[in-house]
Amino acid sequence: MARPRVIVVGSINTDLVVVGERLPAPGETVSGGIFSQHGGGKGANAAVAAARLGAHVTMVGAVGRDAFGDEALELLRGEGVDTSWVARSDAPTGVALITVDASGENQIAVASGANAELDPAAVERAVRDAGPGVVLTNHEVPLEARLAAARAAGGPVVLNPAPAREIPDELYALGPIITPNAGEAAELTGEQDPEAAALALTARTGAPTLVTLGARGVLGATPVPGTFVAPTPSAEPLSARTVPGTFLAPAPQVAPVDTTGAGDTFNGALAVALAEGRNLQGAVAFAVAAAALSTRAEGAREGMPSRGEVDE
Ligand code: ADP
Repeated sequence: MARPRVIVVGSINTDLVVVGERLPAPGETVSGGIFSQHGGGKGANAAVAAARLGAHVTMVGAVGRDAFGDEALELLRGEGVDTSWVARSDAPTGVALITVDASGENQIAVASGANAELDPAAVERAVRDAGPGVVLTNHEVPLEARLAAARAAGGPVVLNPAPAREIPDELYALGPIITPNAGEAAELTGEQDPEAAALALTARTGAPTLVTLGARGVLGATPVPGTFVAPTPSAEPLSARTVPGTFLAPAPQVAPVDTTGAGDTFNGALAVALAEGRNLQGAVAFAVAAAALSTRAEGAREGMPSRGEVDE
């Protein structure tokens, strides 16, 4: 079988992390922390997840002409991701400054830098050049870049609407599979109930919607009622009014060490499974398994599983 093709149009960041006793208050300096640096950005993280699962992955994005940019590209290439469509921008590489306290509570300041400079014309060329495949994009790159990606796509489009911000009708009309978490789904639709939110989004796109619910798994809605059968019946129905056309795919039970990057893994794995031609049911089951495994280790990328681990 030809390798599945995934084209990620998304963010590439460097995460600079200080873990200390407590978070600094405004104007305060807290000493004694421990520093680490990680490859990050929702786009690049999902690209790594997809590559580990055996896909041919093309990363479309932008980094600066700086050392963080060199390192970010090296990490992606080390995972086998094709970085030939990552532009070098005059803006600095995107950075997330993260402080974490002893209880795991964090504070994050992001400078999107080069990600905000991603050129829609270049995105269109890259996605066309990549040919048939699944396109995965997110809200950490400009709207015009997401639109260009969705228009040029030679296959299904997965839109991870993180961080939450409004989606214009023009993008809904291109029929993306939207994958918000519960908070993003509520912000996009005004519906607090994930099922109502999923149905509202599916009504706008005419495509399936997948709302991720952390340890509870994924709540999905399909445009044609009855086209989906949940892989395993849920012991606890999500709500009393589950309607035809929605389903709950429960997450495998794990003892999570760190859920950072679970959403990125879910999106990367979903794209791989769809690119393999699995139906929605099979693709969601594969993606929830991969996402659960990703929580086994500290850090976004450290726990991302290999193909063999997920198949098992
Ligand atoms: P985000 O991290 O983007 O807010 P979620 O917390 O909903 O997204 O997690 C995304 C997916 O990762 C979930 O739908 C689920 O499949 C998986 N996941 C997250 N936390 C856990 C957990 N504690 N146990 C098993 N799977 C999990």
